[in-house]
Amino acid sequence: MKSWPSPSLPSPVSGPSVSVTAHDTAQDAVVGVGPESGNARLYVCGITPYDATHMGHAFTYVTFDLLNRAWRDAGLTVSYTQNVTDVDDPLLERAAATGVDWAQLATEQTDLFRADMTALRVLPPDTYVGVVEAIPEVEALVARLSEAGYIYQVEDEHPDWYFATTRAEGFGEVSSYDRAQMVEVFAERGGDPDRPGKRDPLDCLVWRLERDGEPAWDSALGRGRPGWHVECTAIALDTLGASFDVQGGGSDLVFPHHEMCAAEAVAATGEPFAKAYVHVAMVGLDGEKMSKSKGNLVLVSQLREQGVDPMAIRLVLLSHHHLTEWSWTSEDLEANVARLAAWRAAVSGGTSVDAEETVRAVRAAVADDLHADRALEALDAWAADSPQANTDAPGARDTVRALVDGLLGVAL
Ligand SMILES: [Zn+2]
Repeated sequence: MKSWPSPSLPSPVSGPSVSVTAHDTAQDAVVGVGPESGNARLYVCGITPYDATHMGHAFTYVTFDLLNRAWRDAGLTVSYTQNVTDVDDPLLERAAATGVDWAQLATEQTDLFRADMTALRVLPPDTYVGVVEAIPEVEALVARLSEAGYIYQVEDEHPDWYFATTRAEGFGEVSSYDRAQMVEVFAERGGDPDRPGKRDPLDCLVWRLERDGEPAWDSALGRGRPGWHVECTAIALDTLGASFDVQGGGSDLVFPHHEMCAAEAVAATGEPFAKAYVHVAMVGLDGEKMSKSKGNLVLVSQLREQGVDPMAIRLVLLSHHHLTEWSWTSEDLEANVARLAAWRAAVSGGTSVDAEETVRAVRAAVADDLHADRALEALDAWAADSPQANTDAPGARDTVRALVDGLLGVAL
């Protein structure tokens, strides 16, 4: 599958590189992420393409774009894989409800997502894979899990295949949930703890056998389609290998999704899935949780249609730290439209102050658990001081422009 077009890659800014840290959910601590040198490996769970990109999605992908850029700024190369869940229950339900072909819906929404990401100047992943393209990898992973004795079929009219989740070593270490909490959240987020015939309520579906009217693929497990978690496990292991640096996604993926993926990977490889699990907080609207059922989604594409500068949207996202829940407001957008104008005036104005201290502060803030919010404050101060500067430092304007472009992904 094609990726989306790449905006300019981070431009190197002179100065010592800083090693990158981020909050790891499994350890509940800020830890170093990525190797000291060489190649960093990142997997971020992609969209289920049945609805347009809302601000919660944008916050997640801009956050990992910041990590990608911070690693590059620290002198590393990055292998970045993202999936697209282009066949799954919510997509098929939406297609059936609206009378459109599921594959066409997936293609249209994936295209819209990529257009949104391009507008927000999110660097494309190196590998962007749909589930429908990864069926052989899923099959191979299930075969491996089966050989290791982790796979069984339920005994009913639809003998689907399940993974014995709780038998995997380290199960529970990503979320640190207790069992009661796991069962409750599993039911809320696409799981089926009450399905008869399962050996444990927390066992997860890896292969759903064909039902009337649903897409299905031939496989050694019978005609059917992959379960949700196993698709990401298979794609990540196939493209990045085990023990990759960061598994990322929205905070609603901590359990069951990332816990189940980690369990499958450990059972199949004997190695940890990822070294760190980084999660991005949810975004609300005017103090309420943003959700389809409430109909209060703020869509990136809608704002673009209204003529909002995508760079101002990106600045709103960067002004919030990824661990803190926040709400989209028009005041916040206006403030960042003004911020963008102030920065643009400062980099093209008559005078500017030296930027060495600002560059250091911005890089340190981003490398410290992706605190773009603090980086923005340092740049605000530079932009505010520049028009009153006694001595002009014209090189500083180019340096700041390159820094903001390369590290923060904002074109001035
Ligand atoms: Zn995933």
